[in-house]
Amino acid sequence: MIIMKTDATQEQIAQVVKEIKKYGLRADVSRGAYRTVIGLVGDETRIPFDHFAVLPGVREVRMVDIPYKLISREYSKSFEGLEHMVIKVGTIEIGGKEPVFIAGPCAVESKAQLMKIAEGVKKAGAHILRGGIFKPRSSVHSFQGLGAGGQEEAEEALEWLREAGEKFELPVITEVRGETQVDLVAEYVDIIQIGARNMYDQDLLTQVAKKGKPVLLKRHFGAGIEEFLSFTEYIAAEGNKDIVLCERGIVPVGKGRSYTRYVLDLASVPAIQKETYLPVIVDPSHATGRRDLIFNMSCAAIAAGASGLMIEVHYNPVEALVDAQQQITPDELKDVIDACRRINKVVVSERNEGV
Ligand code: PEP
Ligand code: MN
Repeated sequence: MIIMKTDATQEQIAQVVKEIKKYGLRADVSRGAYRTVIGLVGDETRIPFDHFAVLPGVREVRMVDIPYKLISREYSKSFEGLEHMVIKVGTIEIGGKEPVFIAGPCAVESKAQLMKIAEGVKKAGAHILRGGIFKPRSSVHSFQGLGAGGQEEAEEALEWLREAGEKFELPVITEVRGETQVDLVAEYVDIIQIGARNMYDQDLLTQVAKKGKPVLLKRHFGAGIEEFLSFTEYIAAEGNKDIVLCERGIVPVGKGRSYTRYVLDLASVPAIQKETYLPVIVDPSHATGRRDLIFNMSCAAIAAGASGLMIEVHYNPVEALVDAQQQITPDELKDVIDACRRINKVVVSERNEGV
């Protein structure tokens, strides 16, 4: 990380960037209120740091020994940058004072199904509509989402998603599972989701990041927090810092039945917030796999400081083609949202009082 002097000129900053490129690295230029900081992106072993320390306008060259420096608090603090990233999606703010609710079916099944659910979640108070079109499934013999039907069917389902979003004034999000889907999906959605199973796919992360749209990255169920943030850095390294992190549970431990699909690691929410300025949301649906636990765990997630929730919703959950056991109805979603808003008020005011 190269910290420029407060009176460094644009030319001096440009000169440092040019030098960085000469060594085959990229530069992440962050301008704060008083000074500019330049983060190096790439293989740092190629860099003669002493050379940079004596360039005109450079105040200090500091080693940041963390694998996720661009999204770290240490980095943003160094140029007096933001403390909390607020990601704007239309009129919605993710990471602001109010929690954001992303809701919709696990999988888009038909236009009628999606429209009905979109109307329901809007009425319940949700802000963003979700709907899976390319579904990650454990078995090749189960429904893979409409996207598996080929380009035409995928596009049709994406059209429905956009139409539902426009009709009910909800920005939309869907998951990309592979690099071949990125260009198509990016044309239709407001936020691109990368699912838990693909958190480790650095090529997918890079390609999605390049679209310049907000990205929602889910934590892999076997990933530690440092790993999660290290892979998030692949998105930030492309100059795209509109990233929402999503905790969705990690693998259960011990013998016998675990009674939840995954273990919802709620301590990760404040732990991640200590490390990064990016907003963190929670998905209680995939974490618990049980509709009867969604209310409690949603409340707990907001109390833990989450900036929002992603919840699977269906007007008749048992009928859902995917994840029937964990979807809630729009009426139940309304109860969740109302309770979470009340909890958030308490939590925010307590925080303001320094508790
Ligand atoms: C999803 O949100 O549709 C999903 C498949 O979740 P995850 O990637 O967390 O399993
Ligand atoms: Mn699902």
